[in-house]
Amino acid sequence: MAYDQTNIFAKILKGDIPCNKVYEDEFALAFHDINPQAPVHVLVIPKGDYISMADFTAKAPADLITGYMRAVGKTAEALNLVDAGYRTLANAGENAHQEVPHLHIHIFGGKPLGPMLD
Ligand code: 5GP
Repeated sequence: MAYDQTNIFAKILKGDIPCNKVYEDEFALAFHDINPQAPVHVLVIPKGDYISMADFTAKAPADLITGYMRAVGKTAEALNLVDAGYRTLANAGENAHQEVPHLHIHIFGGKPLGPMLD
C-alpha cells in the first residue's frame, strides 16, 4: 500500500491544516486529538511518509526511529503525565480501526484508565 499524501496528518505536518501542538522536534510532532477519548489525548506522529509501525520500522532510518520514540517520552513529560501514568497505543490497519493512514501513537491520560481492550 502506497502512502497517501493527502491524508489529514500529512496536511498537518505540511502546515496546511492547524493543530493544537504539544511538542515538536526534527523527528516528530505531537498535538491534541480533535475528538479526545480521555482528559488528555494526544497524537505523536513521525516526520516522514509512514503508514504504520511495521512500515516505519522497515523503512525509516535509525535516527528517526530513535528520535520518534524519544519524542513520545518527551511529549508525556510535556503533558506532566510521567508520574501519574499514561497509556500509549498505535492502531494499524482495518481490524484495529486505523482511521488516518499516517503512523501515530496515541497518548491517553489524565484519569485512571480502565482495561485496555474491549
Ligand atoms: P486512529 O483511529 O487512526 O488510530 O486515530 C485517528 C485519530 O485522529 C482519532 O482519534 C481522531 O479523533 C484523530 N483525528 C482525525 N482527524 C483529526 C484532525 O484533523 N485533527 C486532529 N487533531 N485529530 C484528528
